[in-house]
Order: sequence, then structure tokens, then C-alpha cells
Amino acid sequence: MTRRCSGCHARFWTPGQRVPELLATRTTLRLGGPADELVECRTEEDVVAAVSGADATGRPSLVLGGGSNLVVTDQGFPGLVVEVATTGVHVESDLCGGAFVTVAAGESWDELVVRGVTEGWVGAEALSGIPGRVGATPIQNVGAYGQEVAETIARVRVWDRDAAQLRTLFPGDCRFAYRTSRFKEEPGRHVVLSVTFQFRLGTLGAPVRYAELADALGVSLGERAPSVEVREAVLALRGRKGMVLDADDHDTWSAGSFFTNPVLEAAAVPHGAPGWPQPDGRVKTSAAWLIERSGFGKGHGLDRGAGRVALSTKHTLALTNRGGATTAELLSLAAEVRDGVRDRFGVTLVNEPVLVGCSL
Ligand SMILES: Cc1cc2nc3c(=O)[nH]c(=O)nc-3n(C[C@H](O)[C@H](O)[C@H](O)COP(=O)(O)OP(=O)(O)OC[C@H]3O[C@@H](n4cnc5c(N)ncnc54)[C@H](O)[C@@H]3O)c2cc1C
Repeated sequence: MTRRCSGCHARFWTPGQRVPELLATRTTLRLGGPADELVECRTEEDVVAAVSGADATGRPSLVLGGGSNLVVTDQGFPGLVVEVATTGVHVESDLCGGAFVTVAAGESWDELVVRGVTEGWVGAEALSGIPGRVGATPIQNVGAYGQEVAETIARVRVWDRDAAQLRTLFPGDCRFAYRTSRFKEEPGRHVVLSVTFQFRLGTLGAPVRYAELADALGVSLGERAPSVEVREAVLALRGRKGMVLDADDHDTWSAGSFFTNPVLEAAAVPHGAPGWPQPDGRVKTSAAWLIERSGFGKGHGLDRGAGRVALSTKHTLALTNRGGATTAELLSLAAEVRDGVRDRFGVTLVNEPVLVGCSL
């Protein structure tokens, strides 16, 4: 029997009753065993009550957004999964300060981008087509095509589980860096309740900083193009790489890029590999280049065994579920690729998605 709290819409079950909720139904990889219990929280109060209630009793809990950056073990999660499904967007806009947009953590990220492009909020247009919810964007400082959320985040409201209190964190507190942040460094400590962005106003997007996007738009690096066109160009580029969710396309049954681009001392960058200098003097290189040159081409894995896991046929960085796969199979493919790159180049790739109950 399912009980629903009238005020909070959270789902509860009678004590002792196990209602397994397959996490495979909640992840874009479509992988993951059952959770002991799952509550869908539609208000901040419910999110805090669920998490702090679990903390008070020492029960393990997992905060879930859209499940697009999660690899969950086949054994599932032995505790409470708290799905953040809060809604609400509050806008304060003026010509001087731009648009201050405070967004509930459960809102869809891409719907926010669409609204931004429509209403003339500048700074997120290149982040079009990224799945998941707003509350997860600060966790790994979501980024693509030369933009990242750290550039427009003004503050993040969190429930700090260590201190058991609400806190407001400003960018200086968040330690944002390439695909990471304080939230990722201190896993599970902060539950993001809302994110406030400060966007400049205008119809032109931010200066284009990614060569492939600049080419697609027919502008030079550093030039600007209408936000609407930037969004269209990004969606087209992403689509060709299987990076826009499509239930009918197994190349998109993924967690996006499985490995981050390694940031290395300049001398350690393999000969011929692309390199992007970083502010700290190191150089970021391309994980996809390393993977391909290590013998793992697009579609690697399709012709092996049951072919249930494989590199995407459109993009070597995405590990995909071709249907009926297990997390163990996916991790085995990931380990094969990581070890192959390490043997060939001496570079150890690091997984981008969060691993729950499993390791690589
Ligand atoms: C096809 C595809 C393309 C992608 N492209 C990109 C890309 O271009 N750039 C990029 O950066 N990422 C990309 N991703 C990864 C992913 O979409 C992002 O990381 C996204 O922000 C994850 O959001 P989510 O709501 O799905 O988070 P989930 O997968 O549900 O959770 C991810 C992590 O964040 C935590 N978390 C979620 N919500 C909260 C919260 N409210 N408070 C605290 N912790 C929370 C979870 O506990 C977990 O540790 C892609 C994924 C896919 C499937």
C-alpha cells in the first residue's frame, strides 16, 4: 500500500513494507537496482525533512535529481532515495543588474535555458540540451561548448547536513573548477535547494569560446551570435554526438561523457594530443582523443558477447546501455577503457558520473 502525505506529496509505505523502486527507471543509463524506499519531494520543507529524518536515525540516503549523472550498482540503494522534485522560478530583472533568477532545485535545467533564450538572459545558451535538474548543476559545475554554470551562479541555497542548517553559499564558497566544486569534493554534505543565477540581458549570447561552435555559427572565437542561434547550433552539434536524450536512440542511454578531460602537467600531455592551457599552468587534453588512439573506437563493445554495453556509435566518450545491460557490465567496459588508456599513454582517466554503491 502506498501512502501519500497530503501536504508534501511524498510517498510513504507502511512500516516494514518493502516497496522496491528500481533505480533503473530513474537514471538515463537505465541501470540500477532497487531502492529500499523513494520519496518524491515537491517542497523544500519535504526535502529537508526527508534528508534530516534519515540523518537523525543514521539511515543512508541518496539525493536524486534527473538521474543523468548517476551509475547505480545492480544491488540498488539500501536506504532512502530523496528525489528533489521542487518547482518555482523567481525573476528580478532590471537594466542595471540584469536578471536575478532564483530557481528551485527540482526544475528542469533545459527548460530554464529555453526560458533564458526566450526572455533574453545571457550566459546559459551554450548549455542547451543538457539533461537533469537545476539543483545538480552546481555539483559538477555543469559545462559544455565553452560555458559553465559557475559563470552565472550568484548563490546556492543549501541544507548543510553536517551543520543541520540552511546556508547560502556564494561563488567564492563553492570552489568551482572544471567539472567539480566543493559540493563534489564533500559528497553528500550539501543538499541544493535553489540556485540563483545572475544573467546579463540581451539577445546576443555570450562571446563564443569553443571553436566547433564558432565554426557552426560562422563567427570567430570571441564573437557573439544571437542566443537563439547558439541554442540551435549547440542542439545540432550535441544531437550528432548522441548527447541529446532520445528514448529511441541507444547512443543516448548514457550518463553523458563518462570520463572527464584530463588536466596534466604540460610535459605529460601525449605527443599530438589536443591541449587547452589552464589558469594554473597545466594543460587540459581530450579524453576522447586518448580513448580513440588507445584502440577504442565508436561502437566498441557492440560486436562482443551480448553487445549490451558499448561506446556510443556517435561519440567515444559516452558509455551506453544497448538494452538489458547491467551496471557490472558497464563498469567492466569502463575499466577496460580506463586501463587501455593508462597502458598506452600513462594517463588515468577519471569518471565524471557519480558512482553509487560501486567503484571503478
Ligand atoms: C546525454 C547526456 C548529456 C550530458 N551532457 C553533459 C554536458 O554537456 N555537460 C555536463 O556538465 N554534464 C552533462 N551530462 C551529465 C548530467 O546531465 C549533468 O551532470 C546534470 O547536471 C545532472 O543532473 P541530474 O539532475 O540528472 O543529477 P543526478 O544524476 O540525479 O545526480 C547527480 C549527482 O548530483 C547529486 N544531486 C542531484 N541533485 C542534487 C541536489 N538538489 N542537491 C545535492 N545534490 C544533488 C546526486 O546525489 C548525484 O551525486 C550529460 C548527461 C547525459 C545523459
